[in-house]
Amino acid sequence: MKSFQRIYSPRFLHDPSSDTGYPWPSVAALAEQIEARELVSQSAQTYFAYHKVSEVCIDELFNAATRANYAQDIQNIHAFAGLVSMAANGPNGVEGGNAQIFEHMLRRSNATVYRGASGEVTGIMKIQSETTEQDTPVTQWRIGTRDGHSDVYDVVLIAAPWHSSDITLLNTEKSVPGFRYQRVHVTLVVTDAPQPNPVYFGFDRTFDRVPRTIVTTHLDGDNPDFLSLSYQRRLKHTKYHGQTWDALYVVKLFSWAPIPSKTINKIFGNGKVVWTHEKSWSAFPKLTPTDRLGQFEVDTNLYNVNAMERLVSTMETSTLAAKNVVGLVLQKWLGSYFVHGVRCKWSSRTPDIATAWDSWGCHSS
Ligand SMILES: Cc1cc2nc3c(=O)[nH]c(=O)nc-3n(C[C@H](O)[C@H](O)[C@H](O)COP(=O)(O)OP(=O)(O)OC[C@H]3O[C@@H](n4cnc5c(N)ncnc54)[C@H](O)[C@@H]3O)c2cc1C
Repeated sequence: MKSFQRIYSPRFLHDPSSDTGYPWPSVAALAEQIEARELVSQSAQTYFAYHKVSEVCIDELFNAATRANYAQDIQNIHAFAGLVSMAANGPNGVEGGNAQIFEHMLRRSNATVYRGASGEVTGIMKIQSETTEQDTPVTQWRIGTRDGHSDVYDVVLIAAPWHSSDITLLNTEKSVPGFRYQRVHVTLVVTDAPQPNPVYFGFDRTFDRVPRTIVTTHLDGDNPDFLSLSYQRRLKHTKYHGQTWDALYVVKLFSWAPIPSKTINKIFGNGKVVWTHEKSWSAFPKLTPTDRLGQFEVDTNLYNVNAMERLVSTMETSTLAAKNVVGLVLQKWLGSYFVHGVRCKWSSRTPDIATAWDSWGCHSS
């Protein structure tokens, strides 16, 4: 955790003596600096076993966490993602949806945002000028969109899972490495049951202390109906289809496959399910152990922020990757002094966490 946190430390990133290589051209270089390389190359199961964690703890605690967080079993997921899964307690969310964070970022940046067909990129084509006055060829990129328009840009940042973005990359020998994704089904259940059905979990029907957060494991070969179940919130005085309830509960289940309604009825009890909604996602990369992490710079002036997801798939780390990629571009355009600051002075009182994350120079991260 300490090694990871250094990514927020201005001194660590900008002090020439620490020689971190920030901003990093590849995910591997970033992983090296936060001491994650070795963790990514081995399975979480191997790592925890090597560190003398008991089998039962690996199975019942760590595996439950990797399944709940990444829908992947502990023997298949790398140790860095395994450790991140253990840090996922007490997540915070923004009322009305986390998407608002990114909508506000866009609004405040004053960027021009294209939506609908004019914002749907279908092709990215390399344009290489013959020569300039200084005899150095200039690389630009033509972006084509679903509405049939195209424009030329000096730099292009890809910030979407490449495999599902349906974009064709043209006129370059380079390619954007895709990775396999883990399919996850999310089922939202609205129920008037204040707890899951005790009978489904093998208790007597009068048992009233069934947990409202349940994680699962299956190393013994048994495959539970869901990966995790958690009561999210209570709805008061709710009307639905002409009926009014004093209290309803919103429950979220993650699973590998759609959960049949018959099973949902068993989990909550017959007649207890008011409404369900299911959505399936290609959620996160399959985070198998690997020695091959991708490049942020795919080709000259073409960057892939999403490469970070193969190391770890979170909104925060994707945001860090985005800033790193912008750092690479600014370093190229404006020089290292702009990104790192000039004659920076640090003292023992310099905070470890940057006070100016959204800027550049001595006190940024
Ligand atoms: C079910 C689920 C639960 C998750 N839970 C958490 C969590 O609790 N905490 C957490 O930190 N992370 C969580 N994640 C992971 C997190 O969502 C990802 O790490 C993050 O969204 C990756 O960011 P991104 O910008 O690379 O891609 P995305 O967030 O997927 O953004 C890509 C954007 O590009 C757009 N796009 C795609 N193709 C094109 C195209 N051709 N042209 C134009 N636009 C295009 C898409 O519409 C989308 O808006 C979860 C993911 C899922 C699926």
